[in-house]
Amino acid sequence: MDAASRAVHSIVLEDPELDFAPLAPVRSQLVVFDFDWSLADQDTDRWVHEVLSPRLRIEFVQRKPTMQFTDMCAYLLEELHKEGHSRAALEDALRQMPIHPAMLRGVRWLHAQPTQTDFFLLSNSNEVYISTILAHHRLDAPPLFREIVTNPAHFEPSGLLRLRRRIAPDGPQHTCDVGCSANMCKGTPRTDPGDELDAYRARHADRGYERVVYVGDGGNDFCPVRRLGPQDVALVRRHRGLAKRILEEGPVRCQVRYWSGAWEAEQLLRALAASGA
Ligand SMILES: [Mg+2]
Ligand SMILES: [Zn+2]
Repeated sequence: MDAASRAVHSIVLEDPELDFAPLAPVRSQLVVFDFDWSLADQDTDRWVHEVLSPRLRIEFVQRKPTMQFTDMCAYLLEELHKEGHSRAALEDALRQMPIHPAMLRGVRWLHAQPTQTDFFLLSNSNEVYISTILAHHRLDAPPLFREIVTNPAHFEPSGLLRLRRRIAPDGPQHTCDVGCSANMCKGTPRTDPGDELDAYRARHADRGYERVVYVGDGGNDFCPVRRLGPQDVALVRRHRGLAKRILEEGPVRCQVRYWSGAWEAEQLLRALAASGA
């Protein structure tokens, strides 16, 4: 099956072919995880309102076409606070958000293998959502992720969760032309700020990564996936923005393996160190 057919296949079929064949053995690799709908089996920014305020979940959809995404999420958190939802209620909602047991099993297995595998979390969610959920699933001690890059957030004494863009609106902006939102560009090189994946690799050049594996689902994951080379691998969740953009704007240079449920992603994570190299 060629790359274009595989991409179509990834969108239209409910029970697609399984492709869990081992990938080439390496001594050192970097696994980059997106968070919402990739490591986690839900979307943090939407989930908190689905759990706490149906009114704001509807407003989310209504405002999204006209507001910068992070600014809109920050505004909706202010509204959530005005409705009287406490810090404890928000944290409790986050702890209810699913990470599939198979995904947890997969990352823990890969982390424990003799192949040197570093994990890097690159997410358009925010620091509070991610740290709360990772701690709940005990992925923080010892830390699974060597670094986490996301939007800054903190609770104010009133209980309001204050969210800001990673790239502040009043400073230099990224110059990505792949369609990334103003608050963050995950992949385009030679933009400062922005350029998150290349910047990570430059900070960790001593780790000698022989390949990058990118686990993602969303339209904003296309920018970094487009940057990967033939030795690299994208583990792409079907039926979502990244699969659509690969189909419409691809092909990409890296190898692509598709998955729908975490049970498939688990097998693909196992294929990253299957030979025990
Ligand atoms: Mg995502
Ligand atoms: Zn970009």
